Amino acid sequence: MSLLRQFVLWCVAVSCLVLASLASGAERPPNFVIIFADDLGYGDLGCFGHPTIVTPRLDRMASEGMKLTQFYAAAPVCTPSRAALITGRLPPRTGMCGEKSRVLFPNSAGGLPDSEVTIAEALKASGYATACIGKWHLGHLPQYLPNQHGFDFAFGLPYSNDMDRVGTAPRGRAAFLHPQSKFWNVPLLKNGAVIEQPADQTQLTKRYTQEAIKFIDAHQQQPFFLYLPHSMPHVPLFASEDFAGQSRRGLYGDVVEELDWSVGQILDKLRELKLEQNTLVLFTSDNGPWLIQHEQGGSAGLLRDGKGSTWDGGMREPTVAWWPGKIAPGTTSPELTSTLDLFPTLHALAGIPLPQDVVLDGYDISPVLLKNQPSPRETFPYYREYTLMAFRQGPWKLHLLTQDGYGQPQPTRHERPLLFNLDEDPSEVRDVAAEHPEVVAKILQAIEAHQGGMTFAKSQLEERLK
Ligand code: MG
Repeated sequence: MSLLRQFVLWCVAVSCLVLASLASGAERPPNFVIIFADDLGYGDLGCFGHPTIVTPRLDRMASEGMKLTQFYAAAPVCTPSRAALITGRLPPRTGMCGEKSRVLFPNSAGGLPDSEVTIAEALKASGYATACIGKWHLGHLPQYLPNQHGFDFAFGLPYSNDMDRVGTAPRGRAAFLHPQSKFWNVPLLKNGAVIEQPADQTQLTKRYTQEAIKFIDAHQQQPFFLYLPHSMPHVPLFASEDFAGQSRRGLYGDVVEELDWSVGQILDKLRELKLEQNTLVLFTSDNGPWLIQHEQGGSAGLLRDGKGSTWDGGMREPTVAWWPGKIAPGTTSPELTSTLDLFPTLHALAGIPLPQDVVLDGYDISPVLLKNQPSPRETFPYYREYTLMAFRQGPWKLHLLTQDGYGQPQPTRHERPLLFNLDEDPSEVRDVAAEHPEVVAKILQAIEAHQGGMTFAKSQLEERLK
């Protein structure tokens, strides 16, 4: 190659780099806010059909953005569901599930392994400010707390608000009927230090919201990632004085309506700072409603069962995505999507390459959000602990085993698996396996392929502190 030609190619390469950096410099990477309710059911929001819970701010968010009607958490209970969101990996791969224990407890010795890459770590490494404000539940020991997993700032409870019940509190569900913060010795942590114990649970939603707004204010000049996993509406239910006693749905409604207020505060702040066109906000829940809590638990709407179960009510979540100017207003997507997809999607939107040598279980769903296009996700595995209970492919869901969320001690194994068409029968009441043997065979093949690629890590949930 002549010297002149080499020089021309070098000039072209340099100009391309300059142009690329100018282009990327001109557009700051987007901010991300993930609002994660705890045990909120598919049917608990006005925009998802609840007749008496009033959620004007979430309804407005949906009318300005996109409702995702087939969006799944990756587990039907708290700890594994959170681990999956934050790593993009199925809980059996990270060990954030167990054979006997379903979630972490205050006497658990484990937590999210350091070897896992979290969304926060990836975004922080590329210049994002990161915060976790709310319930963590991925390990309460110092080495497992949010600050050790990529969050610059952390504020909230290390585990569920019903844990560490004090000896003098009423037994059983009685404590939930007239809850008082002093019944549970749950600590409120700020960057790993206890600032209040027991936490005043009536103020949790309000304080999380205030901290979230402070964080957005402080970091408005740089890209930020705000993970806001609310403690509510997990029992015991608490609302602040402004919301207690207001809802026709009772205390559960009060609590959800306060969450709705909180969402409104955050969207208002983004608008006030003129950040709304550069911020993706996604609202969803970690698992379905805790039905055995009766009126203290939510509703899965038309879906079957709730928290703890791999029937759809346990894992399909009321989900709203909002990004004015990017997500078309008033849209609804019935595409198959999951919290597992947030890890790769946020990477794509931020322009960050995916980590090397990490097996992910998610897909980049930005085409669904930004263009209302088909989802790259065609299948979804339903795990309960380490067991694959059911598998979805397109509209079809095949149950190998079924078990109610609570109260059914052993699963029922179906020698002839149950098949439902979720597009036509979202309530999973009409088993059509006999009419569609070819679909059953195809899904069994897909399950075999999925299981061939699965790896199982040792449980982080079952070892206890001495
Ligand atoms: Mg939960």
